[in-house]
Amino acid sequence: MQIKCPQCGKKMKEDKIHSSPYFPFCSRRCKLVDLGRWLDNKYRIVSPLNNENEKTKNDD
Ligand SMILES: [Zn+2]
Repeated sequence: MQIKCPQCGKKMKEDKIHSSPYFPFCSRRCKLVDLGRWLDNKYRIVSPLNNENEKTKNDD
């Protein structure tokens, strides 16, 4: 059975990926890219909300 890396789509053998420290990714790079994207999205969502709340407070 083969599993695809969620980041780059590279096919990996299941027995190999289970022993990988980067599971479910094929490599350290793919894991970091995915983590970076996740953090980036989180900050993008949080930042505008914080700015808006501060503006509202200041206007009142
Ligand atoms: Zn990959």
